[in-house]
Amino acid sequence: MESVLVSACLRGVPCRYDGRDKPSAALDASLEGRVVVPFCPESAGGLPTPRRPAELVGGDGHAVLDGTAKVVDDAGEDVTAEFVAGAHLALDRARSAGCAEAVLMPRSPSCGRGRVYDGTFGGGLVPGDGVTAALLERHGITVTSAPGV
Ligand code: SF4
Repeated sequence: MESVLVSACLRGVPCRYDGRDKPSAALDASLEGRVVVPFCPESAGGLPTPRRPAELVGGDGHAVLDGTAKVVDDAGEDVTAEFVAGAHLALDRARSAGCAEAVLMPRSPSCGRGRVYDGTFGGGLVPGDGVTAALLERHGITVTSAPGV
């Protein structure tokens, strides 16, 4: 049976920065018949829950992986290392579980695909990928955004 990596917060794990989850009935329906592998890169990378919200500054997740952008929380603390570590652990998990696809949380600085928050903590969006989404894509895993959230 086909396995798919899914942002853990979409599957009932209260791992978001605010200590909550973000379920999606549309996502659950779309995953029927597949083996779901829940994973939270920010938790895996060593960040606590709850935690301060963080956003990408100076570029998207690809730029973070290239060393030209960073991830900063709303108190100004640089959490780039934790985000990059979590991304690599997500890749390890996807590979070990045989996932060719990942369905991730939209807009997140880790999990976002195609659009992410713009780094101002004002709710604005810019084109780009989160750090984990970028790393998975670079290693041939198809990343899509979850529906219904
Ligand atoms: Fe959800 Fe991804 Fe954020 Fe973890 S890092 S809380 S899985 S969006």
